[in-house]
Amino acid sequence: MTLWTSQDAAAATGGRVTREFSIEGVSIDTRTIQPGDLFVALQAARDGHDFVTQALDKGAAAGLVSRIPEGVADDAPLLVVPDVLAALEALGKAGRARMQGKVIAITGSVGKTSTKEMARIALAGQGRVHAAEASYNNHWGVPLTLARMPADADFAIIEIGMNHPGEIEPLARLARPHVAMITTVAAAHLEAFGAIEGIALEKGAIFRGLMQPGTAILPEDLPVTQILRDCADEAGAIVIGFGQQGMARPIKAETVDGVTAVRARVLGETVDFKLASAGTHFVMNAIGVLAALGAAGADVAAAAKSLSDWRPPLGRGAVEDLGGIRLIDDAYNSNPTSLSAGLATLARLTGGRRVAILGDMLELGPEEIEMHRDMAKDPSMAAVDLIHTAGARMRALHDALPETRRGLHAESAADLAERVDELVALGDIVLVKGSKSSKVSTVVDALRRTR
Ligand code: ATP
Ligand code: MG
Repeated sequence: MTLWTSQDAAAATGGRVTREFSIEGVSIDTRTIQPGDLFVALQAARDGHDFVTQALDKGAAAGLVSRIPEGVADDAPLLVVPDVLAALEALGKAGRARMQGKVIAITGSVGKTSTKEMARIALAGQGRVHAAEASYNNHWGVPLTLARMPADADFAIIEIGMNHPGEIEPLARLARPHVAMITTVAAAHLEAFGAIEGIALEKGAIFRGLMQPGTAILPEDLPVTQILRDCADEAGAIVIGFGQQGMARPIKAETVDGVTAVRARVLGETVDFKLASAGTHFVMNAIGVLAALGAAGADVAAAAKSLSDWRPPLGRGAVEDLGGIRLIDDAYNSNPTSLSAGLATLARLTGGRRVAILGDMLELGPEEIEMHRDMAKDPSMAAVDLIHTAGARMRALHDALPETRRGLHAESAADLAERVDELVALGDIVLVKGSKSSKVSTVVDALRRTR
């Protein structure tokens, strides 16, 4: 199916076409490019222009470039623009403009991707759904996702992230959602309330991108909820809170064998659903998603039913049986908020000794050591029987733990992985969590190998 003709792409970007083409997809990476894709020569760690020849060899239908790279055939199909990233944004904007369905944007300090996946899966059977297959939430990920959107999509779920202040609003304005959801707001530091107010304002800026009239879905139980409400009000949005007190709220939730049966009240409707997680944070995200989908015109009861097909994305807290131990693989990422949620999930599981294997939390700033140490005081920590740690920062947590529950500490996750037999025993329930570059996933790999 044609996604863009060269005429449409040229009209959207103001670029010059060297030879007519029509494309079926958009790619920025020659490792995953598909025949028929437009290859976008972005300038990142490396210059995409160096890969145009390779992309065309692999069957790319055209290249989006700001100059004709050396070695590319004279008659190669190219769209030549002054600035490749600006052209990708323009293509994303045009992709959004021609789509007639409903757009739901999701942001938040944590939980964006797992929530996006919930929304995608919950919409099964309710029309054509478009969502990025990965965590494409930044200045190129959002326009890329919009540029890839089929014109006849009924729903699109767009993840919007932030690495720098001011990033969310322009991306939200590009996506122009009908519904915008904030999963949660967390300061890197638990005590930094000044900081968390600022972060809430940043997240709340997503509502400024809403279509009119648009709906804001926001967490009801946070200290900064009022700030988010104010942002939504200023943007003229209809506000729906989710949480214990929200218009979307849990009535009861019971976890058996890692699956939680939930009864919830969502926009005046009582729904029952099963979620493949023991984590209450995922239950809350799911209730927010149902509210978002309801606001976007989807059938909430059907969406709730479909949620039983959702699984936490790889490394985000799925519970699995691994030859006599129960593993919670949460090794994709970590920060104080998601670690706290991970520990709470571990604490809710019963029937064995609870073991946490924790790698460093990275990018926390100057107070990172204190923040690692503070995790010893997390309310769920008392329910964990043994805590192993890896990494220079986790040393602070190791030292802060009571001796009875202090496990092994190693300088690196790889060192810990080598001692995998000393970490766990048959019957244990094991949480493995750390920032991606802490490489604590090597412990997961070792556990899988030895089981
Ligand atoms: P990124 O910024 O890397 O794109 P993300 O916002 O997309 O992250 P996810 O990948 O969905 O987040 O989840 C990251 C971690 O946050 C997982 O460990 C998940 O269990 C946890 N998490 C998800 N939702 C919540 C929540 N509401 N509160 C606390 N932790 C959460
Ligand atoms: Mg993500």
